[in-house]
Amino acid sequence: MQTATATDRAAAIARAARLAALGDPRVMTVTARGELVTFTSRLTDDAAQDLLQWCPGRFAASLWQQSHDRGLSPAQMAWAHKLATDLLQAESAEDANSEPQFNRLFSVFQAAKSRGLKRLTLRLSGVNVKPNRDLTTLWVTSQTETEEGNYGPQPKYLGKITPNRLDSRLADEVKAVLLEAASDPLTAAVRYGKETGSCSCCGRDLTNPQSIELGIGPICREKYGL
Ligand SMILES: [Zn+2]
Repeated sequence: MQTATATDRAAAIARAARLAALGDPRVMTVTARGELVTFTSRLTDDAAQDLLQWCPGRFAASLWQQSHDRGLSPAQMAWAHKLATDLLQAESAEDANSEPQFNRLFSVFQAAKSRGLKRLTLRLSGVNVKPNRDLTTLWVTSQTETEEGNYGPQPKYLGKITPNRLDSRLADEVKAVLLEAASDPLTAAVRYGKETGSCSCCGRDLTNPQSIELGIGPICREKYGL
């Protein structure tokens, strides 16, 4: 099995949820502790088996293994559907309950974009955060480490942020910086300004007394809605 990440898991679950929304419902039954349990699955057999790898528990893991080794019996296939359907339900309940944690960070970029700024970046302690074109994802890169890109060394990519989730690959101290920025973007931007003497939004040196005092360029502050 290849190394799985939280991003793979989220992508696989989102893909299965989209497929399930289009699929025809099938009424299925499994026997759990001697009782027949009836449920509806909208997943294909392939999609249900694929999701087994993301289902918690040893039973799911052994079915996942067996689906590769010798295939599943009809009763086991029904269990694959049950576990996969439960997983999708648990995930969608989780999404509905939690207010998107990183919305404020996205709205800061949205504000700057709506005021016509092109090169959107927030510089925070040790990392830069930059949105993709349609503002659905934020990319996190290192300020100190580089990696080889197509056009030479570029800032090292560390992970991404979606409105609901922080990439699990990010180091704990980076997560802490991003969580703080999500709950209070201005404080995080000002901290960067005071630490480095540069504006969090545009990266220019803070030179005039007002900017130095504020810890951020006043024009940038306004454009980013901070
Ligand atoms: Zn600035």
